[in-house]
Amino acid sequence: MGLLLHCVVVVHHLRPLHLLYLSAAGCASSIVADDCKMNSIIDMIDNENFSIISQAAVVTNLMNIDNDVELNEILEDGIGDEDDDETSFDNNVELPLTFTNMEGTNLTIDENWIMTQSTSKNDFTRELGKDSFKDKEELVRAIKIHSIRTHRQFEVIKSRPTIWTLRCKLYLQSGCKWKLHASKRKRSGYFEITAYTGPHTCLHYNLSQDHPNLDASLIAMETRHLIKEQPSISIPALRAEIVENLGYTPSYKKVWVGKQKAIKHVFGNWEESYVALPKYLGALQKFNPGTIVEWCVSRSNDVDEVEFRRVFWAFAPSIKGFHYCRPVISIDGTHLYGKYKGKMLIAMGVDGNNQILPLAFAIVENESYDTWDWFLSHVKNHVVKDREGICLISDRHGGILKAVNEHGSPWLEPRGFHRYCLRHFINNFYDKFRNS
Ligand SMILES: [Zn+2]
Repeated sequence: MGLLLHCVVVVHHLRPLHLLYLSAAGCASSIVADDCKMNSIIDMIDNENFSIISQAAVVTNLMNIDNDVELNEILEDGIGDEDDDETSFDNNVELPLTFTNMEGTNLTIDENWIMTQSTSKNDFTRELGKDSFKDKEELVRAIKIHSIRTHRQFEVIKSRPTIWTLRCKLYLQSGCKWKLHASKRKRSGYFEITAYTGPHTCLHYNLSQDHPNLDASLIAMETRHLIKEQPSISIPALRAEIVENLGYTPSYKKVWVGKQKAIKHVFGNWEESYVALPKYLGALQKFNPGTIVEWCVSRSNDVDEVEFRRVFWAFAPSIKGFHYCRPVISIDGTHLYGKYKGKMLIAMGVDGNNQILPLAFAIVENESYDTWDWFLSHVKNHVVKDREGICLISDRHGGILKAVNEHGSPWLEPRGFHRYCLRHFINNFYDKFRNS
């Protein structure tokens, strides 16, 4: 069924004219205080205005000086102790505005890198660039991307259709008190951040290549536009897009799941796509007058519902265009991959310039005498019509042979001709004898 979706996407863009044209077609080591007394370093870590990178730099710096105290002890003492006396912030330490390299972290630092220092809700919404969101999806996306770009992690405490509550993922480990609550405003229907505690005071020792908030849902949202344009786009290409935009490298599997979600969002799921097919082909017919659609359904006792078996379609420009093509039609079938198996049958013509013109398509349950006979008779009735002397080229599938050779067939001399496709013949020959 996957191929059905793809082919539907392809034909969607075909306006009459276009169809005819188808024939032609490291560590921030610069943050170092001169006088690295232990206490002032702890103060720096404890100061809420410091971001993760500056904290990391401070820790790195700390490790370079002689001391007998274990690093962890210092950090434990220094973080999350609200009863400490307020100490003045060392104004001699300057934060660089941008970082150009992060040796040993495998992360690329670019213009997307955000230094987060937001202590208030207003600061935070300024960093997000927005203070209200048209729906929950927009809010979730903004906060996930923010957390990825600031190299922070959150976990969801509560998620309902109208509320979303988060806290720092390292809350238990580091005591970081970052948290956020957003809810849907009754009057406007927009989502807003209603409570915020920040900034993060957690330390990340191991910046990995992946990020827990860069999940399949976010990958789906960030790659949706690409999948809409090109449903067959590869997983590595999607992953490259994520790396370029967000700086992290999600696993192949996560990108794959994200792509499935995006496909479902763009094209509907497997079941819905069948339900949408009659409406879709009806719309194609309406906007491409002369386009032929033939259904084959089985009717059960329930009069209100029919079961899909086959559908045939041929665009009006193809039907008209064939009149100017060589008297040759190539046919072939291909597998549909997806939840529901099936075959797609295709008939193609060749114009005077040896370019291919797609003539007709069908989705059928399998390749058999029944389905090929059904398809070929529609090709004859709707595309070939009264034109005689057409040469049909195909592989040697038993169903095709039986349909072509039966009594009264328009594909046999003197009315027409049937020839085998040499490419198929050669491939089958090589397959059989395994000898080049
Ligand atoms: Zn945190």
